[in-house]
Amino acid sequence: MSSWIKRKDTKVVRVGDVAVGGYNPISIQSMTNTNTKDIVSTVKQINDLDAAGADIVRVSVPGYEEANAFKEIKKAVKIPLVADIHFDYKIAIEVADTADCLRINPGNIGKQDKVKEVINSAIDNDIPIRVGVNAGSLEKDLQKKYGEPNADALVESALRHVEILDKFNFQNYKMSLKASNIEMTVDAYRKISEIINQPLHLGITEAGSYRAGTVKSSIGVGMLLSEGIGDTIRISLASNPVDEVKVGWDILKSLNIRSRGVKIIACPSCSRQNFNVIEVVNELEERLEDISDDIEVAIIGCYVNGPGESKVANIGLTGASPKNLLYVDGLPNKKISNENLIDELEEQIRSKVSDKQIESEKIILRS
Ligand code: SF4
Repeated sequence: MSSWIKRKDTKVVRVGDVAVGGYNPISIQSMTNTNTKDIVSTVKQINDLDAAGADIVRVSVPGYEEANAFKEIKKAVKIPLVADIHFDYKIAIEVADTADCLRINPGNIGKQDKVKEVINSAIDNDIPIRVGVNAGSLEKDLQKKYGEPNADALVESALRHVEILDKFNFQNYKMSLKASNIEMTVDAYRKISEIINQPLHLGITEAGSYRAGTVKSSIGVGMLLSEGIGDTIRISLASNPVDEVKVGWDILKSLNIRSRGVKIIACPSCSRQNFNVIEVVNELEERLEDISDDIEVAIIGCYVNGPGESKVANIGLTGASPKNLLYVDGLPNKKISNENLIDELEEQIRSKVSDKQIESEKIILRS
């Protein structure tokens, strides 16, 4: 965790083998968008999300056929699964023996006795519940009371459920209060964070397309994380769910909260560039997607900022003429021509990753 962020020390809940809350790493979630009844496609998508770095995956379970499929899906994957339930509390009970967490929506799950039954099934199976309040599906009376969704309405809806959970002495839950509006979402999370100590699942819901949704989520989720609020995140994008995981990682990496894979620092390029910075960065990013080890690479088009950035990265490239200068561990290493620039960089980065792996294995053996 970045030292400039003072994170709130929340209660820890366990979603399968992932600890959420306290000072545990902020976990990244996404949600499948395949038909849950299509077991093969759903398992594939979950495995793709797992490979992209998701910690937890949520799967929609709208009916009994999907509940049966969910049980088969769970057998075929390793990553913890949250069963997403709306309207019918009995489906939550049906999958409680399989799911690693149940997500229910206070706005549509119904009366207290139904929630109590869901709580009982969570207790019997020792799994947490995520109470997911959403501005788009607030209880009717709250919609009437507040006229339109706002932060106070979201918090009131959440607290009604907190009251029920407290009444049944159930503390094994996490909470989300999502809206598509940044201001409302941030305000609601700040307020609930002052009231409860359970972990908070952050997200800007229905954030939009890949580009607009990424910007919105980065601002909203980033504001909260930088204030120390939030224990797990889901970036909602109208895009491939794998993009949600990648953007989630980029947000955590940008805030120095968690690191994973190649972090490329690149200049925007200008007429001073000695090689095509944009082309090199895009190609490298694509080629190096399989690397999950933490490594920093600087790709800078010229001497204006090149040496400074290259000296603080694991691998650095400073554009120069007639040949560019490669830095390894902050020191000038060799000159590379533009012709084989990308191949050479890829090779150097992979070799650095493998050196780092050998080094960390030695440290483990020594300790
Ligand atoms: S580092 Fe050089 S090439 Fe890159 S933007 Fe700055 S001046 Fe332009």
